[in-house]
Amino acid sequence: MSNAEITFTIDLEDHLGIYATGARWMDNASRILDFCVEKHIRATFFTVGKVAAHAQLLKRIVSDGHELALHSYDHIALTNENPATYAAHLLNAKKTFEDITGKAVEGFRAPIFSLTPKSAWVVDMLKELGFIYSSSVIAGKGAVNGFDGAPNKPFKWKNGLIELPVPMVDLGVLALPFLGGVYLRYLPLPLVQLMKKNVHADALLWTYTHPYDVHDSEGYVRLTDGTPLWMNIVLMNNRKNFLKKLDALLANNAGAPLIERARALGNLGEF
Ligand SMILES: [Zn+2]
Repeated sequence: MSNAEITFTIDLEDHLGIYATGARWMDNASRILDFCVEKHIRATFFTVGKVAAHAQLLKRIVSDGHELALHSYDHIALTNENPATYAAHLLNAKKTFEDITGKAVEGFRAPIFSLTPKSAWVVDMLKELGFIYSSSVIAGKGAVNGFDGAPNKPFKWKNGLIELPVPMVDLGVLALPFLGGVYLRYLPLPLVQLMKKNVHADALLWTYTHPYDVHDSEGYVRLTDGTPLWMNIVLMNNRKNFLKKLDALLANNAGAPLIERARALGNLGEF
């Protein structure tokens, strides 16, 4: 498998925290699933445990050939979670997903890439609960979260859990998670392609998207989760044609779901 391949990953959550039937994020999730069918892409869906109320959606993800992974049981940064109660919530979400689909859930992504030195308690928890890999770390000092000193290529935590960190481009003064979310929405595609050539040679590339990234008719909504105003404005704009941009990025270049790529990795350095 070529290093330049990019795996499509989706963080399946609602940014307004509405998980009731009929919520618009579900239509956008279906749009993303339809896009994958049309483009013959197999992706990884990091899905919040609360989505378990929509069993048909989870079943479709798996029957369409995607990997169903976990994005915590609720969309709360690990740094705001209580380690004493977190394991039980996570295990419950994992088991529920597995009961619905009949497939093992082996991948985990922390909400807002919030695996930092402060929340590193989750690493042993993930291993004990049977996860094979995590995709939760921004190596270095990120704008919101970051793990200073962590490698910016796949590595193994001391307990053997594989980490697939966010692909970053180092611009000298700052490093950017350029391949997903708002970064990808705002950066011109030729620039993204150029940046792609400047990531670590051993980086494993993946792009990330949320249902709201493709929701171009939402209008402006002020988030109530503590998101700063400037970021709120950034998040609400520039959604039009995002699927077209993803198509251009992934055309003939989409990698396998992350669990398959994690399993195919050779010896990894320990951190
Ligand atoms: Zn998320």
